[in-house]
Amino acid sequence: MQPMVFSFETLTEYGGLGLDYSYSAAVAEELGNINCGAIPMAIGVQTDMATPALAKFGSDKLKKEFLAPSISGDKVACLGVSEVGSGSDVASIKTKAARKGDDLIINGGKMWTTNGAQADWMCCLVNTSDGKPHVNKSLVCLPMDSPGITVAKKIEKIGMWSSDTAQIFFEDVRVPRSHIIGEEGQGFTYQMIQFQEERLYAAILVLVPLEKMIADTIAYARDRKIFGKPVLDNQTVHFTLAELQTELELLRSAVYRAVALYVKGQDVTKLASMCKLKAGRLVRETSDKCLQYWGGMGFTQDVLISRMYRDMRLVSIGGGADEVMLSIICKFMDTLPKPGK
Ligand SMILES: Cc1cc2nc3c(=O)[nH]c(=O)nc-3n(C[C@H](O)[C@H](O)[C@H](O)COP(=O)(O)OP(=O)(O)OC[C@H]3O[C@@H](n4cnc5c(N)ncnc54)[C@H](O)[C@@H]3O)c2cc1C
Repeated sequence: MQPMVFSFETLTEYGGLGLDYSYSAAVAEELGNINCGAIPMAIGVQTDMATPALAKFGSDKLKKEFLAPSISGDKVACLGVSEVGSGSDVASIKTKAARKGDDLIINGGKMWTTNGAQADWMCCLVNTSDGKPHVNKSLVCLPMDSPGITVAKKIEKIGMWSSDTAQIFFEDVRVPRSHIIGEEGQGFTYQMIQFQEERLYAAILVLVPLEKMIADTIAYARDRKIFGKPVLDNQTVHFTLAELQTELELLRSAVYRAVALYVKGQDVTKLASMCKLKAGRLVRETSDKCLQYWGGMGFTQDVLISRMYRDMRLVSIGGGADEVMLSIICKFMDTLPKPGK
């Protein structure tokens, strides 16, 4: 397998700017200023979730065909990992790509695919053999206009309304074998590496919304008077907001440290998983506690805090649920039960 160290400079020939990952992180943080979770998520699928494996491990031909137009914005990418029966347990996916001459014939389907209803291509995880589940998978660049692909439905969600989430079926979809990213059979490993950027992105993305939720709540609670004084003047209110702000600063430090280490080429799987776990929990806690101080107004569609409450709930589920993050952290801490003991 290729080493973890990856130079973004190599992407200039495909239209990249040759900047390191910290610039990507800065963009992700700035996208948090969009007053919703869905648009930054949809952009992140293109920049940090469906394309990193192709950029790191793909052939020159594949990068020209799929990465270059994704960088220029001419093609929309989506990531097809999750299936109806496999979300947390990625190794258990059922979609199969059978070899036929120089082609692959794909059957199965994907679930929860962000951008899936409008994407031009999918970075799709498939089983390319019947071997052991961690070495029988490949990531494939799948053009979404291939015959046999059906976007079955757009899924109705409690939040993230401005991002489409699709269920997709594959029936005898034919793609050239040369569309496999990197080495055949290494797809699971590549996807685990690709997840690092997805999880970092998710953690970076919540920083500005957290800041905004707290700031907006301070402004509202200062203005809103009950029992003859501002809501904010109750110690339980301003102490709670101070706690949340402190937690935010700790998350920010961990995220920036993870980004700095990643730029140096280090494997940040453990730290990125910790950041994603903490990000998910903190946005839930912050949106819930802040919404409370808005009273009935917090329960309306008219204020940002209610949208944050709905949209940000996904952070603890998408890209690996909190429990999956905990399992990864446990593996690094060597705390999991040993087989046979
Ligand atoms: C809006 C949205 C967008 C998405 N976008 C994409 C996308 O673009 N591409 C893609 O491939 N997927 C996408 N997903 C799928 C997402 O990654 C999965 O939903 C997620 O990984 C959880 O899988 P699952 O839904 O199948 O839940 P399950 O795997 O059924 O898990 C259910 C719950 O079990 C718990 N759990 C999991 N593991 C453990 C454990 N070890 N111990 C105890 N409890 C555990 C967790 O609480 C988890 O939420 C998206 C999902 C949503 C909702």
